[in-house]
Amino acid sequence: MATLPAEIIIEQKMINSTSPKYLNIKIIIVAAISAFACFQSCSPSKPPLTGNLPAQLYYTADDYKSVEKINTHVHIRMDDTTFLNLAAADNFRVLNVSVNSPSAPPIEKQRNISVRLIKSYPTRISYATTISVKNWNSEAWQQEMIYFLKESFDMGAVGVKVWKNIGMDLRDKNGKFVMIDDPRFDPIIDFIEKSNKTLIGHLGEPRNCWLPIEKMTVQGDKDYFKAHPQYHMYLHPEYPSYEDQLNAKDRMLAKHPNLRFVGAHLGSLEWSVDELAKRLDRFPNMAVDMAERISHLQYQAVTEWQKVHDFFIKYQDRLIYATDQRVDSTQIPSQRNTEAHESWLRHWKFFTSDEKMKVPKVEKEFKGLKLPREVVDKIYRKNAEKWFPEMAKLH
Ligand SMILES: [Zn+2]
Repeated sequence: MATLPAEIIIEQKMINSTSPKYLNIKIIIVAAISAFACFQSCSPSKPPLTGNLPAQLYYTADDYKSVEKINTHVHIRMDDTTFLNLAAADNFRVLNVSVNSPSAPPIEKQRNISVRLIKSYPTRISYATTISVKNWNSEAWQQEMIYFLKESFDMGAVGVKVWKNIGMDLRDKNGKFVMIDDPRFDPIIDFIEKSNKTLIGHLGEPRNCWLPIEKMTVQGDKDYFKAHPQYHMYLHPEYPSYEDQLNAKDRMLAKHPNLRFVGAHLGSLEWSVDELAKRLDRFPNMAVDMAERISHLQYQAVTEWQKVHDFFIKYQDRLIYATDQRVDSTQIPSQRNTEAHESWLRHWKFFTSDEKMKVPKVEKEFKGLKLPREVVDKIYRKNAEKWFPEMAKLH
């Protein structure tokens, strides 16, 4: 219970007296103390932004398994059930996201894998389909894609992902880069909106992509762009810039104000919670997933812990937990699953505790954000259920 104010402590001495003359005062004071105690513990008012909240307002490491969680960005590309069993044991539901990337199986095959997994694990997994831009320059492309989306929605897709190949690879008949605000996407985006589905946009890349490897902030980006020089934009100055990518996405969102949109990878604004806040303010239907970018929040927490913490409090309704883990035939399943489980635990520690931490992708030490339970429940489940309403019906 909270500490009582001094005047109540003085009066409490009177209560301990057995003298009858204090009887009426005693009743009144008991009522006052009860009311004060209740005000401290029963008040439904929101927790303050900072300060020492009672312990029950926070989760601990022990709560990890008992709290229902959703991970809205994984790529299960084979009929492997070990990853889903692990997710179930750790109390996760997952959204399996199809991608139109050269390293992924054809989009029909990705869809079939999702549909089979959903049959086996109807309460654990949903899926998001995608569109292919292979036939972009054909007249029939829009109709083909709308047909594919309709079929996918009928098969259970709750969203549609567009990928960074739009803006970084796809070109029109004249060799010009096609960006996401190209009018040819509009009927497709309108169809997604009318179907009450969510668009997930991995558009652009982390800002590090436009820097030389040695200037990149987190190890994950250094490793990825070393391995994928074709996507390392520092090496391709003739391609659209980082700002071009963000601006195209902003123009697309401005054209579709009622579209439910999830900016994958912190909306490619992973490097600055201030910049991300500006976009969230401007586009109320936009949430962002944290897939493969939690290290960027941790990197900012090294020097600006309070700012990152306050950002989570202020935008607690717009941030969605996700990891971007892949399941494919190139991995050793036991090793992949161990790594996945360990990273989920590290994320839980970052969001729920205020312990000092070191993680593989960030060079320096930082402190956990120790977010209140209410905020943790939103980022781990409630926001996902809002942006992907069909995922709320899974259990
Ligand atoms: Zn992904």
